[in-house]
Amino acid sequence: MTTASTLEDYSRLCVHTITTKAWSIEEAMDRYVAAGIGGITVWQDALKQRKASLIGEQLRARDLSIVSLCRGGFFPAKSAQERQQSINDNRRSIELAAELGAPSVVLVCGAVPGQSLDTSRQQISEGIAAILPDAEAAGIRLSIEPLHPMYADDRSAINSMAQANQLCDQFDHPLLGIAVDVYHLWWDDQLEQQIQIAAKKQRLFAFHICDWMTPTTDLLNDRGLMGEGCIPVKTIRNYMETNGFNGFNEVEIFSNRWWQANPEHFLQQIQQSYLKHS
Ligand code: ZN
Repeated sequence: MTTASTLEDYSRLCVHTITTKAWSIEEAMDRYVAAGIGGITVWQDALKQRKASLIGEQLRARDLSIVSLCRGGFFPAKSAQERQQSINDNRRSIELAAELGAPSVVLVCGAVPGQSLDTSRQQISEGIAAILPDAEAAGIRLSIEPLHPMYADDRSAINSMAQANQLCDQFDHPLLGIAVDVYHLWWDDQLEQQIQIAAKKQRLFAFHICDWMTPTTDLLNDRGLMGEGCIPVKTIRNYMETNGFNGFNEVEIFSNRWWQANPEHFLQQIQQSYLKHS
């Protein structure tokens, strides 16, 4: 009997370490490689008490592409001191990406409850302006990830593809682009047009996939496997690819339900749903 992974192409499948968070990064890299998966996006917590450069070597030795480091951002804050702290943290994330050998850092831009979204957007813009020189020096791309509006209170004041494009327009910088996550953007009625605009400006840096469960029982940790929910993942992937995106399909699933399952079984389900529903 042959296994599916020897027959199917997972070379453009990437898994975020948080998706299989029961595994250490060492175990995750071996499991992904054994399953034929081509890429890994590393969450910073997976690097705790480890040397990023050493993990980078281990990943490269296994021919696993390092797609991104997750995540920087969270620029807005009520005090100037906290905003400076956030800039310092983002500089450290850029350094960490360089040590790891990741080409990009994903930015969850941030928001502050009770502060206007306009003020938060201004602070996000100032934060990006402060760290772009560091990104340039390190040769690291910054991927703005718009988040679903349900997170506009405390996670991101950038909630649509148009807002992400507007933010990029302020800089028009080759190292500043967008991470398109289907979970956050599937509702966006401008999605296709705004992906086209982003593509023309060479800003389609990353593509994250999962699904939206009905009903959603947890605002953070109830994402589904592709095909379990209502997101037209194939349609959105098609918007990306017809506009020239040829990067990885990154599976990023925070799910209390799936995190309780055997992670090996979960990884198999990810691979099946990737082939069937994305
Ligand atoms: Zn994402």
